[in-house]
Amino acid sequence: MTEKYGETYGDETYEEKHAYEVVVVGGGAAGLSAALVLGRARRRTLVVDAGEPRNTPSAHMQGFLSRDGMSPAAFLATGREEIARYGVELVRDRAVDAVRDAAGEFDVTLTGGRAVHARHLVVATGLKDELPAVPGVAERFGRDVLHCPYCHGWEVRDQAFGVLATSPLSVHQALMVTQWSKDVTLFLHQVGEVELSDDDLRRLAAAGVEVVPGEVAGVVVEADRLTGVRLADGTVHAREALFVAPRALPRNDLLLRLGAELRETPFGAYPVIDERGLTTVPGLWAAGNASGFAEQVINSASRGYRAGAAINGELLFADLDTTVTAQSAGRG
Ligand SMILES: Cc1cc2nc3c(=O)[nH]c(=O)nc-3n(C[C@H](O)[C@H](O)[C@H](O)COP(=O)(O)OP(=O)(O)OC[C@H]3O[C@@H](n4cnc5c(N)ncnc54)[C@H](O)[C@@H]3O)c2cc1C
Repeated sequence: MTEKYGETYGDETYEEKHAYEVVVVGGGAAGLSAALVLGRARRRTLVVDAGEPRNTPSAHMQGFLSRDGMSPAAFLATGREEIARYGVELVRDRAVDAVRDAAGEFDVTLTGGRAVHARHLVVATGLKDELPAVPGVAERFGRDVLHCPYCHGWEVRDQAFGVLATSPLSVHQALMVTQWSKDVTLFLHQVGEVELSDDDLRRLAAAGVEVVPGEVAGVVVEADRLTGVRLADGTVHAREALFVAPRALPRNDLLLRLGAELRETPFGAYPVIDERGLTTVPGLWAAGNASGFAEQVINSASRGYRAGAAINGELLFADLDTTVTAQSAGRG
């Protein structure tokens, strides 16, 4: 009997117990979906999840066919139950480092120094939203300070919208949300009027969007509801929902450490992947918001599924090739 990290080992060593065919880092929609396919394909799979999914601030998840309106927490709890049925293990922990060994397999270090080994590694770590530093915005995010009309537009339809500009690209957001309300005010905040193109101004006018210059100092909240947007000069504009564009910070540190090629986008650096989610590093996969900014929950789940199925095929054929090579060597 040996003991390590508070666990006791009998016949099996620590290393044997913690060797998996696949380790999935991240237990959101993407990671759990990959794990479900892999578990059902009888692959020894571990999910390492820090438990901070991106949509935590929202009480409801919209737009996932058959799960529209479900709470994000209940959705993921159901996913965790489903993967457990197929023997997939899940640990509440954080992967802090990963290296690829001489055999092209992965050693993943968790907090506290624990390590797990995997033949294939799926990075499904999502992204972090960095909100503009305007008082009240972070506190109301996911409630009446919103980023995505597809996630929340229907729920606030026909209300008085504000859009807090963080760059000239916010014009696009202001135009988009007019599909959900005709009462839209674009607060230029730190964007100068001269930064808007003639096309921007013509489209904003055609869509009936009011453009208000001047720095935004905060949001006004009464009885736990957003009621207005306050400018630095003290004027208050009555508004019921405020759209913002957080800066996306993809959690790509493990991918970077492992040498995956990244591509720069206006929304952060994401791995170069093929249609299945394979990065430029053999055996290293990415799914969900770790692989692209625009992935909603249903797309993330789909990406995870596709990666999981592809990995199963890769493992199967790699093992068959090893057997064929060994048999050929035996005959020779
Ligand atoms: C406020 C808000 C509301 C939203 N509403 C909707 C909606 O209604 N409908 C919709 O379709 N989409 C919505 N989205 C988008 C949705 O959140 C994402 O599409 C979805 O969460 C992406 O899934 P994912 O699995 O890629 O990442 P996530 O759900 O973010 O999961 C990633 C997981 O990986 C874990 N993790 C990260 N790094 C590590 C590490 N190093 N080690 C271990 N674990 C790690 C995280 O803790 C997290 O649990 C919303 C987003 C926000 C911000």
